[in-house]
Amino acid sequence: MRPGTEEAALEALVREVRACRACAGSLPLGPRPVLHVSTTARLLIASQAPGTRVHETGISFNDASGDRLRGWLGIDRDLFYDSRRIAILPMGLCYPGRLAGGGDRPPRAECAPLWRARLLAAMPQVRLTLLVGAYAQAAVLGPGRVEDRVRAYRDLVPRYFPLPHPSWRTGAWERRNPWFAEEVIPALRAAIAPFLEQALTRSRSA
Ligand code: SF4
Repeated sequence: MRPGTEEAALEALVREVRACRACAGSLPLGPRPVLHVSTTARLLIASQAPGTRVHETGISFNDASGDRLRGWLGIDRDLFYDSRRIAILPMGLCYPGRLAGGGDRPPRAECAPLWRARLLAAMPQVRLTLLVGAYAQAAVLGPGRVEDRVRAYRDLVPRYFPLPHPSWRTGAWERRNPWFAEEVIPALRAAIAPFLEQALTRSRSA
């Protein structure tokens, strides 16, 4: 497909997604799909589902979790939200609500089967996918423990890079597991660098 045609197809698909009401009756704040996609992104962040602040603003990771994730990646907000370079696609696109015992509900099960494969097919330049948290990892890799996967990240690169969900709870986990900062974070930054640099070079020469 020619570049202009690819972009038009993705834009049409995103309009379809934004009109989705498939599980509207189960969403406490109603449908508001939050995604950042493009036909040129080479790096994809596969995440979980929006929280309330993300729902309010329509911007993925626009919260403390996002600050922690950007810290791990070593990039600022401008680059993080440049969807020409980095796509962000949660497993569930709308805020799913709270669990009775605290914490957010899992991503809506209807969502990924409806939209994920079509959106990924419309982003042909993606080369590396960061699997952020248990739901993204389970969808791609099947059952398994997040910590085990993060420890064994070398088995998945260069196609995937598994990460914990960067919630506030993960701060305590990071302090108990210094290998994450010492070994995994430098490897993560090295893994993403070529895709971001290539995109920056192309954009400068365009
Ligand atoms: S969560 Fe997904 S399936 Fe449900 S309304 Fe939002 S976009 Fe549609």
